[in-house]
Amino acid sequence: MIPLEIRERESPNHGSRGEPARIDMLVLHYTGMASAEAAIERLCNRDAKVSAHYLVEENGNMWRLVPEARRAFHAGVSCWEGESNLNAVSLGIEVVNPGHEWGYRPFPDAQMLAVERLCRDLVSRYAIPAHRILGHSDIAPERKSDPGELFDWPRLACAGIGIWPPPAIDSARGRGVAVIAPAAALADLATIGYCVASNTQTAVLAAFQRRFRPERCDGRLDAETATRLTEVRTAYHRARQR
Ligand SMILES: [Zn+2]
Repeated sequence: MIPLEIRERESPNHGSRGEPARIDMLVLHYTGMASAEAAIERLCNRDAKVSAHYLVEENGNMWRLVPEARRAFHAGVSCWEGESNLNAVSLGIEVVNPGHEWGYRPFPDAQMLAVERLCRDLVSRYAIPAHRILGHSDIAPERKSDPGELFDWPRLACAGIGIWPPPAIDSARGRGVAVIAPAAALADLATIGYCVASNTQTAVLAAFQRRFRPERCDGRLDAETATRLTEVRTAYHRARQR
């Protein structure tokens, strides 16, 4: 395999992971800034107090900003599988994209290829389980919508990175769902790993849709979303049993 070519630029924004250190989660972001240069400047600005371990430009160039052994400041207030303080246990990758604020656009092939190679390397070196490869919006659904509905999760899953079960043929029309039950949806979201309560269900459903039913991310429990919840819950359940 061709070794990864990674440029170095050290961000001052990192801390100790604590003892004993554990790294078993990968979080994907978009930069949400007008340019890659602006994003790198901000991630390396002491006053901004934000950072990530890696950044991937649209042309596929990769940067390391924080050593993997250190805790980068990328997740903020976050939660998954009932666990918070996720910066301590995760690696963060910033994928350059202007984001919803500056003109959200598709992630180019060269960039996705680089993301795929970087993820594969990290996942294999740290044995990160598939059910802990997540988007920022998965772990902070009320605050964040990155990497967003254009991010190619199916492509990564095909490459063995993360979980994205292909929808059953009928689920596009939501057939086979007799009842749309909010309580069942809440339980499904929690089984997948989302930290959800009845008052955050809309935000969490929107995060779920961005990732697994990206055609419409309105946070509404329609029939297709309910069907998709069942499929994804089953896939996560299986992955955890491995
Ligand atoms: Zn983010």
